[in-house]
Amino acid sequence: MLLCKICNLANGSRFGEGECAICEGGALKCDGMIETGIAMLAADGAKSFSISTVIDKEWLAREEKAWDSHLRQGESIKNLLNRRISSALRKAGGAEYQPEGECRLVFDFSKGAVDLQKCDVFIFGRYKKRAAGLSQSRWKCSKCDGKGCPGCEGKGKFYESVEERIGEPVEKTSGAKNYVMHASGREDVDATNSAGRPFVLEVSAPERRAFDLGTLASDIAASGEVEVVDLRFVPRSFVEVVTESHFDKTYEAQVEFGGDVGEGEAAKIRSLEGVMLLQQTPTRVAHRRADLVRHRKIKHLEFIRREGQDARHATLIIKAEAGTYIKELISGDSGRTNPSISGILGMSAKCTRLEVTGIDDEYLDSCMDAVKIAGK
Ligand SMILES: [Zn+2]
Ligand SMILES: [Zn+2]
Repeated sequence: MLLCKICNLANGSRFGEGECAICEGGALKCDGMIETGIAMLAADGAKSFSISTVIDKEWLAREEKAWDSHLRQGESIKNLLNRRISSALRKAGGAEYQPEGECRLVFDFSKGAVDLQKCDVFIFGRYKKRAAGLSQSRWKCSKCDGKGCPGCEGKGKFYESVEERIGEPVEKTSGAKNYVMHASGREDVDATNSAGRPFVLEVSAPERRAFDLGTLASDIAASGEVEVVDLRFVPRSFVEVVTESHFDKTYEAQVEFGGDVGEGEAAKIRSLEGVMLLQQTPTRVAHRRADLVRHRKIKHLEFIRREGQDARHATLIIKAEAGTYIKELISGDSGRTNPSISGILGMSAKCTRLEVTGIDDEYLDSCMDAVKIAGK
C-alpha cells in the first residue's frame, strides 16, 4: 500500500510514497487550499475566523484499512489536516482564530474547494410595542405560504410584526440574508408593551457586522410602532438564556364591567392579591396549546378609577407570575380560570385594553455582565 506525503505523515511514515490509497491525492491539495483561504480572509477583512474541514467518508474507511494493515492506529487524516490548516493560518497573521469567529473557512476536501461563510450575529435588546395590532413574529398566510392570495388580500400575511419592524432595518444595515427573533414570552396582537421585552435577534450571514447599534435603534424607532433599548451584541448562547427565562410581569388593564362597581366590589377585586389562580388553557389558544391547568400567583393588584371612567369602568394594575393569562383572570373564561374577577363579582368583566408595563428581568443584565467579565 502506498500513501501520499500527507497521509503517510499521519501514519508515522510507515508506508512507501506513491499514488495514495487513502485520499487518491486529495490531501495534497491542502497547501494550495490554505493559500486560497488566506487570500479569502484578507479580501473579506474579517477580524476573526474559525475553520472546519469536510473529508470524504471513504477516506476515513480506507484510513482504517491502512491502520489494520499495520496493526497500529495512526493520527486521523482529519486531525492532521485541521492542525496543518490552523497552524498555517495562525502563522499568516491578520485575522485571529476564534471558535466563534466572524466567519468560518470551510475546507472541503471532497471537492478540493474552500468556502468563506459569514457567521451569524446575535443582537440582544428589549422591545417596546407602542401600537396594538402587531403580532410578535412574522405570521405568514397559511393558504398561500406568503405569496399572496384572496384570503390574505394579496399581502401574504395577516399581521405586520414586531419581528419585521426590528429585523428589516437590521437586514438593510448588515446585508444579512435573513433574521429570526427569539423573545422571552409574547404579548397578544391587541396588547401593547411599554416595559421592554427581552429578545435576541439572530442575524444570518451578514455582509457587515460592525454596524452602529445606536443608529440601528433610531432606524427601528422611525416606524413609530416599535422601539428598542439596551441593544448589544451577544454570543449565540443568549438565545437560550432569553427564551428559557420566565419573569414576573406587571400589566395595566382597562376593564369594562357588566354592572356598577363601587367600593365594595373594588375591595373584592383587591382581595385577589396574593391568591393562587387555577387557569385551564384558555379557549382562544386551546387550538395551539396543550389543554392543562396552570397555577399562577397574583402578586399585586390595584383598582384605580381614572378620570372619565364611570361606575362600569376601571383600570387594574396587576403583577403576576410569568404565563398568567390576564384577560382570563378578568373574564373568568367561562369558569376555566378560578378565581376570577368576573367570578367574585358575579357579573361580566372584560379586558378592553392591555399593556405590559413591567418585566422583572434584571437577571438578564447579570448574565450579560458575567459574559463581559468572561470575555475580558
Ligand atoms: Zn493521501
Ligand atoms: Zn394568502
